[in-house]
Amino acid sequence: MYKYTVSPDNSQTYVLSIANHQDIVPAITAFCKRTGITSGEIRGLGAVNKAVIRYYSPVTKRYEDHEFSEQMEIASLTGNISTKDGEIYLHIHAVFGRSDCSCIGGHLLDATVSGACELFVENLNVKAGRKYDEETGLNLYLL
Ligand code: FE
Repeated sequence: MYKYTVSPDNSQTYVLSIANHQDIVPAITAFCKRTGITSGEIRGLGAVNKAVIRYYSPVTKRYEDHEFSEQMEIASLTGNISTKDGEIYLHIHAVFGRSDCSCIGGHLLDATVSGACELFVENLNVKAGRKYDEETGLNLYLL
């Protein structure tokens, strides 16, 4: 599903490689559980052939999901790791590059690796929980 290694100079920095054909979000979640990371930063790149990107409307307080089934570069992926109700909670945004080099992006629900997915994960070792916020309709940081 994935491979990882930790920096010998900084035991909080991990290099994470998600295998071809795997879904990115469950792989990162499994990695967090295995390493015990409950707060952190994720950044990386790669390629996918399917992605579901969400757009959050503050008016309706709902996500609108958009599915794309095509080969795309992960031009940039950025995210954070926290917990909600004792479970790992990932908040990931991504920009995907299409074959004509135009980009789409937003809140990442999930995506399937097609080629490679190379991530750096920084364990921040802080208490970072989340709680539902009535005003915004979002699960905001509880720091
Ligand atoms: Fe988001």
